[in-house]
Amino acid sequence: MIDINTEKPTQVVDITPMVEEAIKESGIEEGICLVYTNHTTTSIVINEAESGLTQDLLSRMASLAPPSEGYLHNRIDDNAHAHLQAALLGNSQVIPVREGSLVLGTWQKVLFVELDGPRHRKVSVTVMAISE
Ligand code: ZN
Repeated sequence: MIDINTEKPTQVVDITPMVEEAIKESGIEEGICLVYTNHTTTSIVINEAESGLTQDLLSRMASLAPPSEGYLHNRIDDNAHAHLQAALLGNSQVIPVREGSLVLGTWQKVLFVELDGPRHRKVSVTVMAISE
């Protein structure tokens, strides 16, 4: 389990090094890795960690599902926009593992997306071996 303390209402955190560490701890060389966020207002995406792009992502999510539009869920805790943004982005990614590392392209990173922070968050990493 990866623990993340986010610092802002919305934020993108590059968790690639933490996922790589979990794979090393598993000792698995060949397989698949499931990265899964255990919350309803966060997401996991694979993309470039460039600061302009991550800000563009958060800005676009805010325009697709802006806060304070009279959502029914806001009767409960006033964060329907964050749930909707999380549903659009998805809450998990499956990544191949080869030679004990994630198979990622040059610019690909595993990104945790906070949509209703700041909070303490948990991301689970499950590594499954595949025998040749
Ligand atoms: Zn809610």
